[in-house]
Amino acid sequence: MTDAELGLWCASGPEEPARFLASAIVERYNLSPPINIEKLIQDCAELFFEDWPYAGCDALVHGLHQRRPQVFVRQGLHPRRQRLTLAHEYGHIKMGWHYGTVGCQAVASEVSTGPAGTYLEIAPNLDEQEREATRFAGYLLIPDRFIRPLIRSTDMKAVLRGLDRTGVSADAAFMRLRHLLQPGFVFTFTVRGERRTYTSPGTVTPIGTSARRDTQALKRASIDSGQNVVSDRIVEWFRLTEFEAFEPVPGSPSATNLLRSAIAFHEPDAKLQQKILLSINGIVGGSLSADRARTPQQALAILRHKFDGRAEYREIIEHSDFDLYLRRKVEEWAQKRGLL
Ligand SMILES: [Zn+2]
Repeated sequence: MTDAELGLWCASGPEEPARFLASAIVERYNLSPPINIEKLIQDCAELFFEDWPYAGCDALVHGLHQRRPQVFVRQGLHPRRQRLTLAHEYGHIKMGWHYGTVGCQAVASEVSTGPAGTYLEIAPNLDEQEREATRFAGYLLIPDRFIRPLIRSTDMKAVLRGLDRTGVSADAAFMRLRHLLQPGFVFTFTVRGERRTYTSPGTVTPIGTSARRDTQALKRASIDSGQNVVSDRIVEWFRLTEFEAFEPVPGSPSATNLLRSAIAFHEPDAKLQQKILLSINGIVGGSLSADRARTPQQALAILRHKFDGRAEYREIIEHSDFDLYLRRKVEEWAQKRGLL
C-alpha cells in the first residue's frame, strides 16, 4: 500500500516480516474475517484439542521442522482466545525461521508474559518468537486489506463494526487497531471489572495518567466520541485530534521569529525566552521526526494535538503566532519531503 492511499486517520504501522507474510497468506487464500483458522491449521498440521495440566500454557506446537507439525491446544478455551491461540500457532508453522518445540500463551500483549521456558527447554530468543507469533496472529485475523479501507472511511462506527466481525478478543482487536491510527485516539472498556485503555501511539491524554480512566474528562476534550459493542464489550471511544485542511502561512516570517513573538508576548526574561524556545522546538522536532505523518494535514494535527495538553505553555499556545509557527514548521517539513 502506498502512502498516498493512506487516509487521514491512518498510520502505516510497523513493517515487519510477520506482517508481510500474514498479508501474503490473506491474499493467496483470499481470506476475509471471520477467518476459518482451524481449517488453515488442518491444511498444514495435525491439530489436537487436549485436556492438560500445564497452567498458563494454552497450546504447544511440536515438530516445526517436520512436513506436518503437531499442534496441541488446551480444550475449553474461550472461543475468542482459542482463535488467537490457533492463529499464533499457525504463525509458528508458517514463519520458517521459528524452531523448536514451543509452549504458548498467545495473550494480546506486546509484553511477553509467562515465559514458555517454564514448561520446556527453550532457546534464548524464544520470547521474541512468542511475541512475533502473536503479532502475526493479529495481522492474519485482522488483515490490513480488510481494516484499512474501514479506517480510510473515517467513520469510527464502521471501523468498530468491522473489528467486531473478526472474532478476536477486545484486547487483541485494540492492540492491533491502535498501531494503525494517527495520534489522538483513545478506546476504553471493562474486562471482569478491570478498566482497559488503548491509545494510538503519540496520543496525549488531556489529563494526568492517574485520571486516564476518567471518561468524562476525555469526552470534554474530544472532537468526537461514541460507544459501540466490540467483541462483547461496550467500548467507549474518543477522538482528540482534529484533522483540518492545511494552509501554508502567508508572508515570509521564519518559524523561529513566529515562535519568538508568541513567547515574548508572555515571557519578558530573555534567558527564559530562549529556554522555552529550545524546549518547544525540541518537542516539535521530535514529533515530526517520529515519522507518523504522511501528509501536511496529519503533521499539523499531530503538532496541535501534542500541545493541547501542555498547561505550562498555555498562554504561548493561545497566541495567534503560535499556530502560525506550527504551520510554518509543517510547511518546512513538507517541503523537505517534496509534499508541497
Ligand atoms: Zn507460541
